[in-house]
Amino acid sequence: MLFENKKVQVRFAPSPTGYLHVGGARTAVFNWLFARHHNGKFLLRIEDTDFSRSDKKMVQAIFDGLGWLGLDWDDDVIFQSERLSLYQNFCQQLIDSGNAYYCYCSQERLTGLRQSNEKDRGAFFYDTFCRNLSEEKKQELEKQNIPRIVRFKVDPGKTVFKDEVHGSLTFDNNEIDDFVILRSDNIPTYHLAVVVDDFDKKITHVIRGDDHLTNTPKQVLLYQALNWTVPMFAHVPLILGSDKKRLSKRHGATSVSDFESQGYLPEAMLNFLSLLGWSPGNNQEVLDKQALIENFDLQNINKNPAIFDETKLAWMNSQYISEVSVDDLYEKLLPFLKTKEEFNINNYSEKYIKTSIEMLKSRLRTLTDFVEYGYYFFKDPDEYEEKAVKKHWRGENLIERLIESKSTLANLKEFEEESIENSIRQLAEHLNIGAGKLIHPIRIALTGAAVSPGIFELIAVLGKDVCVKRLDNAVEFLKKK
Ligand code: GLU
Repeated sequence: MLFENKKVQVRFAPSPTGYLHVGGARTAVFNWLFARHHNGKFLLRIEDTDFSRSDKKMVQAIFDGLGWLGLDWDDDVIFQSERLSLYQNFCQQLIDSGNAYYCYCSQERLTGLRQSNEKDRGAFFYDTFCRNLSEEKKQELEKQNIPRIVRFKVDPGKTVFKDEVHGSLTFDNNEIDDFVILRSDNIPTYHLAVVVDDFDKKITHVIRGDDHLTNTPKQVLLYQALNWTVPMFAHVPLILGSDKKRLSKRHGATSVSDFESQGYLPEAMLNFLSLLGWSPGNNQEVLDKQALIENFDLQNINKNPAIFDETKLAWMNSQYISEVSVDDLYEKLLPFLKTKEEFNINNYSEKYIKTSIEMLKSRLRTLTDFVEYGYYFFKDPDEYEEKAVKKHWRGENLIERLIESKSTLANLKEFEEESIENSIRQLAEHLNIGAGKLIHPIRIALTGAAVSPGIFELIAVLGKDVCVKRLDNAVEFLKKK
């Protein structure tokens, strides 16, 4: 689609003051999907003019986070810190056209103003003191080398713009003070830099978080003063935690890299993030990258805050995991398995690990689940789940049942699923008890838990020696109880 005969061009413009968090990533996803849907461009701009807070490490974290999600950007990355003269030139243009002026107010004066404003209006509002300084006064202040900043002149009236999500919005200019566009060190403020860059890079749609909604009228005023076409805006809803409070560290993982290390698949994360405030208009939830690109539009973005539902994310991740082949899953799981020294993963064959993956695959919500729940493939249980013990390690002759099971398994010539199953069922018959009276206690002995994949297959995979040892351990444990 063309926007006023221009090719769609959007940008993601993070400030590198922290890791790529869920909110920023969602904004990136929306921009990327929109660009790809329209065969347009997705630019990446690093807003690093706040030198004290910007950090190179965070720039790398943003690249890594986008890369992990599969959000490729077009053209070279734009660093605002490398474009300062561009902003300064346009600032000068605004001064020359009478739309901006130097302000020499001292910190003390501004602090006093802030204090009285806070009482009257609740927030700082510049009183236009320097707007009409006489030429003489200005020269005098310049001679004294008084530090100066540049403020934009906001005249009375209304500022109107169209938002793809919120419709037409009108702001009263009386609510907007003469805001700063250039600091005393000649560094532009966010408002000036963002408008200059969006114009210079021919951005057609500004898609960003709702928290910027109140910044937009100021930016529209800048566009108008510079005689530039105002881009389309789409302010996307806030993301709240499941307690309906703004998503923050309190809710647990919030940076994209946290989700990566917790074992979420990037494809699932991309799918999940794209549904935070957008839906394809039907009830479909699992949409791969291609389907997301095909379906994405700004019309179906919701005005209301989106809820970050971790249970849904885990469910979605499990859907994606179940689609991954065992070979690929093996590659993905290996780094997680290697972090667990006690697993001694090098002692196990690729075939063994792949079999264990095959057995647990359908139960995994995250990759770390495998390490957590499947530990018994690599390590004897060092404790037995209390609930499981209460439920199944009870009744008559428990120790004998375990000892008999162990002997039966130890004596098996052919240690395969079928022969194992037959022998255990025969033993149950022989003891005149239900097979469950053997199966459940064995499972706890082997895994420490009440739930596992099919027990006979598991016994076969773990092998005779491991099973005999673990049944012995369980008997020892029960004798001591
Ligand atoms: N740098 C701003 C932020 O990180 C985004 C600016 C914008 O999208 O206009 O919130």
